[in-house]
Amino acid sequence: MTRRAEIWLSFFTRNLHIISKRRSRMSSFDFEDKLFSLSANGKLAELKALTSLSKTNINAANPNGWTALMYAARNGHADVVKLLVENGAEKDKTNSLGQTALDIAAFWSQHPVIAALTPPLADKREPLHFFTVRNLNRASEMRKDSKLLAEMLSSSSDARIVVFVKNFPLLSTNGKRYTLKMFKYSDLKDLINLEKLEVIFLGIQRRGDEVSHSGSPLFAANISHDKLELLLTSFSNENLQALEKLRDAFILDAEQASLAGLAHSLFDWHSRHEYCPTCAHKTDFSEAGYKRKCTNESCLASREVKNTSYPRLDPTIIVAVMSSDRTQLLLARGRKFLPKMWSCLAGFMEPGESIEDACRREVFEESGITIGHVGYHSSQPWPFPTQLMIGLVGQATTQTITVDKSELDEARWFSRAEVIKMTMRKHPEGFFIPPHQAIAHHLIKAFLHDSASKI
Ligand SMILES: [Zn+2]
Repeated sequence: MTRRAEIWLSFFTRNLHIISKRRSRMSSFDFEDKLFSLSANGKLAELKALTSLSKTNINAANPNGWTALMYAARNGHADVVKLLVENGAEKDKTNSLGQTALDIAAFWSQHPVIAALTPPLADKREPLHFFTVRNLNRASEMRKDSKLLAEMLSSSSDARIVVFVKNFPLLSTNGKRYTLKMFKYSDLKDLINLEKLEVIFLGIQRRGDEVSHSGSPLFAANISHDKLELLLTSFSNENLQALEKLRDAFILDAEQASLAGLAHSLFDWHSRHEYCPTCAHKTDFSEAGYKRKCTNESCLASREVKNTSYPRLDPTIIVAVMSSDRTQLLLARGRKFLPKMWSCLAGFMEPGESIEDACRREVFEESGITIGHVGYHSSQPWPFPTQLMIGLVGQATTQTITVDKSELDEARWFSRAEVIKMTMRKHPEGFFIPPHQAIAHHLIKAFLHDSASKI
């Protein structure tokens, strides 16, 4: 081939490449337009034909970040949403406002689409939060049968009793590991009968997800420090010690800590409700520890359903507040926090509030930040003494912080990079977040997960 022919061939080949590239770009634009239009209008059959041709641009977005999945979600086409997801449409993609297809469906109340974008309940796996009792069949139907429970306590060879000393659990240790000390009835028989100890029936321990009455019946008894001395003399060959505060239960494994938390909440409630909140008469231990009954026969609490008779539970919101662009996280330092520890904002709910309202009020009161969308994450029993932490993720609509010094020492925005360093305990100022046993830890991780696509 001559030099001139080589140059011509090179020129032709280069232009052919450019022409074919332009063609493919044009067809790509056509494909996207068609994809958006068919998705927005719910044209399932035509969309099936289109996606069978190509799936490479299924996640294409317009200049505002809208994808075909978002158009289908906006207009309530659940069947199209399913088809797009099956063909590789990403549910986590966000538009320029930070909304996913699910956010858009929720905003426009497109319930079939919300269902299509949310995994079936059976596939959901909530985080296994510390203090959540899992392997216990509470067998609540047995609580009123005091005769059956007394027989089970005294005669079942599998029955075990955990002992609490003034509401705090008694542990056994080999110097390395701590466990709840499990007593047999014969170990405590005299103490229970002579001292007329009120024994709580916690339930029947089980393995896995089975719900059955076969397993070890588990009870809990609360004793005074004097009685502990007596008990320790009988078990002088063992290293037993009572916790002085429940926070130390973090040394137990998750299952045992959850039992310790459950019984602590109940004993704490009993110790504060010896007198009826309705009429001030004495109350009696009842229903295996899950009720206190007023001794005044004419008391309103005896005639009507009154929650003063049942164990107390205090709903508390805790929220990871993200900035409006989801790139920063609002964290605060409470007045009693460990030095340098930062966590999510939290507060007790009040009567008449929805969970979302309580979240918006607490965050505004403590930090001056207003919250728009509030989403549920998960919940955690928090036995200090009887809270239920309702974990949320909120999106801020303002940025300027005004700290309520009566509630917090400090509050500030942290970038994703800083939060990562805090989780790894490598922050230059030594800042860190709560341990994995606290739901705050998991809410902060949820922010890291959510903001990952922003980097
Ligand atoms: Zn009463």
